[in-house]
This record gives sequence, structure tokens and C-alpha cells, in this order.
Amino acid sequence: MDDRLALWMPHLTGLGFAFALGACVGSFINVVAYRMPLGMSVINPPSRCPTCGRRLRLHENIPILGWAFARGRCSTCRVSISLQYPGIELLVALMFAATYWMSFVAEPSGWWGRSWAQWFQHYGLVATLPGLVAVLTLLSCLVASTLTDVRTFTIPLGVTLTATVTGVAAWALQGALATEVMAATWPLPSVSWWVAGASLGGGVAVLGANALLHTGSLTRSFADYGEFVKDGETLAEYPHARREMKHEVLLLGGIIVAALVGALSLGGVQGIPPPVMQGLCAPVFGYMIGAGTVWVVRIVATWIKGVEAMGMGDVHLLGAAGACLGWIDPLAAFFIAPFSGLAWVGAAGVVKLASGKPLRRELPYGPHLAVAVVALVLCRGAFVDVGRLVFPGVIPAVRALQTPPRSGEMGALSERPEGQHTSEKGFSNEEDMDRRWMRSRRNTLDGLRQWGTEAKRDTPERERNAQDATRAGAGRSRSG
Ligand SMILES: [Zn+2]
Repeated sequence: MDDRLALWMPHLTGLGFAFALGACVGSFINVVAYRMPLGMSVINPPSRCPTCGRRLRLHENIPILGWAFARGRCSTCRVSISLQYPGIELLVALMFAATYWMSFVAEPSGWWGRSWAQWFQHYGLVATLPGLVAVLTLLSCLVASTLTDVRTFTIPLGVTLTATVTGVAAWALQGALATEVMAATWPLPSVSWWVAGASLGGGVAVLGANALLHTGSLTRSFADYGEFVKDGETLAEYPHARREMKHEVLLLGGIIVAALVGALSLGGVQGIPPPVMQGLCAPVFGYMIGAGTVWVVRIVATWIKGVEAMGMGDVHLLGAAGACLGWIDPLAAFFIAPFSGLAWVGAAGVVKLASGKPLRRELPYGPHLAVAVVALVLCRGAFVDVGRLVFPGVIPAVRALQTPPRSGEMGALSERPEGQHTSEKGFSNEEDMDRRWMRSRRNTLDGLRQWGTEAKRDTPERERNAQDATRAGAGRSRSG
């Protein structure tokens, strides 16, 4: 217990900063979720009381505390202010603090830090800042999209686009900065030349399609939806859903063909793509897999049912998750989301039984996707454990796709940062993947141990060695 306390004490400042930053972002999300569906600017005018229009004073603008100071009421018109505002601020603050904890405080081989903390702790906060920004932006945009989706049944494109662009730009920058992107601890799925080609081809096609939509050369599907919405309703009984799917099949087909052309033109290149390509293509491929999965389901389900089955906002939402986390997480989230849906139906049933009133008529699917992605990011250990139990073959199969490169192919990438043992350099070709994976894991543990000695200077030498041995042993048995 003492040991753990010593480990996280130096991080109190970081945790406090993450919490405060999250509270401010939560405050901004409240504004975005209120104004964006109304088509208002999110910057101007400054925050006002929605009832009497009085501008908020400086101290009332402080996240969480401002609401508490005013005791939940506007000081001029005394109208009560929804608990949603401080609630969202607190939620995002806790998410940011949890992400910081998971990345920089949690033990890398432990439950919370698994398959995440190794890379962040190895390179430190400054060097991994772009990656961290991508993840925090995604979490913020998921909260914002959930708020608007629940309220208005739409997800503003601006929200998902923010996460997508940030994800691609941040990881591309991270790839350009990295010295050994392909280390087994690199948090994004690795990219072969085939995948890089598919990402570049598909990415160019997505940009092209958006340019054509923007200029009006391509019409958006459901463009005449508004004509069928009755007064006072948000959703309409749209009669041409099947017809509209033909447009979307053509658009999706064009993007898939472009991705195939890209894959065929780069697939033959020897070796592995350099760090810059890894950083750029992993999020683009993640975007395509995330968005593509929901899009295919939307097209098929809409064709069968004859009514729009899943919103285009959900397509952009899982695309954004892929752009920030790579291609595996959105796929996993897609299969986790129905459980969130079941939990919601169950909760609604309990509330209805207890109070006699229904919880809510209907909830769109976007919030369940968002909950699944957030749960995956923050509780990865639980899903890895359940995945091992329920689908024993899946996790080794996914890891096999992530084979780290052999030393000959590493080239300039094999330069190791200071503080790492040079004796580990150069993997022989015969070594199987698991042993290579374990080695890089041990390197990380070595680095961490050096960093940990700072915090544990008081621990007697003998005791420390014993602890290290147990920890390394624990790491090894888990990686098998
Ligand atoms: Zn007021």
C-alpha cells in the first residue's frame, strides 16, 4: 500500500490538472450541445442565463463550483439551473483524470494499465502528448454527441469531424516524432504496406466524395427528408429509404474500389511502412473500418426494413473512434454496444415497475456506441479478460496481425531511446512472435523500474529486488 502511494504521489499535480482541464472542457461541451443543434456559434455570445438573458459573471462561469456557489439558481431571475451542467463538467473531469491515471500512474502490467500504459509511461507525458490529445478529444466528442443525440436525435457533423481530424493529425504528428513506432507497446494497431495503400486510396476517395458533396455535384442521401417531417415532430415516416440506399451503395462502393486500388499499388512494397506512414495510416484505416462497419449495417438494415435503420451520425461516430484508436476498438465497440442497449432497456423496465412511469420512449443508437467506446478506453482490462473467456481464439489472432517487424526491417526505427538495455537489440528471425513481444515488454519494465526507483528510494534494496522479480513474473505470465 505504501509502495503504491509513493508511486502515484508525484502524479497528484498531473491528476489535478487533468481534472481541472476536463471540467473546463465539460463546460464547453455544455455550450456546444446546447448551441450546435440550434445552428448557433459556440464562441459568441458569451454564456447567458437561458431564461432572463443576463450574462454570467466570472465566478459563475467556473466549472462545477459556479453552479454550487449559485446553489443551482440564476441570481437574477431565480430560475433553477439544470443539474446537467455541473454533472457533465464533473463527468468529463473524471474521464480526463481517469485517462491520465490509466496512462501515467497505473502499473503497466496491471488491470488498468494493460496494453495502454506501457507506451505512455515509457516515453513520458511530453513525448506522448499528441496521442493523449487524440484520446481526450475523442472522449469529449463522445460526451457532446451523446448529449445532442439524446436531445435532438442528431449528432452534429462538427462534433464527429473534430474528433476525426484531431485523431488523424495527432497520430500523424506522433508518428513523425516517434523513434520506434513499431515497438510492441505502440498503442495503435500496426500497419502493413497493404493497409497503408488501402488507407491512402480510401482516404483520398473519402475526401473527394466530401468535396463533391460540398460543391453539390453529389446529392446527400435523404436530401428531401425535411419535406416529410410533420410540424412539431423531429422524425418523419420517410417513404424512399430504399431508393436512398442505392446512392449510398454507389458512394461506399466507390470508396472501397479506391481502397482496393491503393492496396494493390502499395501492397508489393517490401518491409514495413516508416513511422510517419504508421502514424498517418493507422487512424485513417481505423476511420474507414469504424465508419464502414456501421455504414454497411445501415445500408443492409435499411434495405430490409424499408425505413432508415441507423443514422449517418452513427457512421461518423464510429469513424471518429477509429481515427483516434485504430481499427480494432471500433469493431469491438460495435459488438459491445448492444449490451449497453440491453442494460438501458433493463433499467427502463425497472424504473417503469418502480414508479409506474416509463424512463423514456426511445433512445437513439449513438449513445450506446459512445458508451461502448468509452468503456473500452477506460476499462480495457475487463474486455480483454471477458474476450479471453468467451472468444479464446480472437485475441491471439488479433495479436498475430500485429507481428512486430524483424530487426532487418526495422532500419532506422531500431534506435532505442536512452535508458533501455542495448543487449536486447536485434531480434533473430527464428524467434516466435510471443517471445519478441515479451522481450519488448521486459524492456518497458526495465525502463519503468529505473523510473520507479526515484519514487521508491526509501525501500530497502533486498525488498525492492523481490518486488521487481514478482512484477516481472506477473508480466510474463499475463503475456503468454
Ligand atoms: Zn436568469
